[in-house]
Amino acid sequence: MKVITMEVGPLAANCYILYCQNTKKAAIIDPGAEGELIISQVKSNRLEIQYILLTHGHFDHIGAVKYLKDELNARVAIHVEDAGCLNDNGRNLSLYMRMDIGDQGPADKVLKDGDKLHVGDIELKVLHTPGHSGGSVCFLAPGAVFTGDTLFCGSVGRSDFPGGNCKELIRSIIEKLMVLDDNFIIYPGHGPASTIGRERITNPYIAYYYSR
Ligand SMILES: [Zn+2]
Ligand SMILES: [Zn+2]
Repeated sequence: MKVITMEVGPLAANCYILYCQNTKKAAIIDPGAEGELIISQVKSNRLEIQYILLTHGHFDHIGAVKYLKDELNARVAIHVEDAGCLNDNGRNLSLYMRMDIGDQGPADKVLKDGDKLHVGDIELKVLHTPGHSGGSVCFLAPGAVFTGDTLFCGSVGRSDFPGGNCKELIRSIIEKLMVLDDNFIIYPGHGPASTIGRERITNPYIAYYYSR
């Protein structure tokens, strides 16, 4: 599996393209903005995009979904609880930022915990990790996990937006992510990559949980 990272939009959200080197089949995770930049990476690597995968429905992760879907003919997948964010500027928080990202919907596939998706030879598993939003998910790949706004390098996502819940967020991280091996790479929704082992030891939110 290869991963391309791009920082897009005003909140510098990480958009990832993960692809199978054998088949050149690929998925885009969280195309929040700058659709043309994302397309240029797809074309220069000669990738065939199968899915547009969304870790959750906030505007900074979904703003280029419609553009890319129309250009690439890929299927849009989001957890059932955040699917309504695709065409609701209140729920996706773009109104809160005084932006209008337009209608990005509908989803082609609604996700639930435990679903498996195949991108070429790569198997991805959907982990429902509510807390930042009700429909937040992480995508578990071989040796890596794409955590959206659930877990960052040294921090965790906000839980004060509608649908957020602080206790749920920490429970999701402990029960769904901290059970992974130390060497799993974390690709978060904002900021630099990390590993499960590093966050287990140095992330203050996780350290606090284990210290109680
Ligand atoms: Zn978010
Ligand atoms: Zn975000």
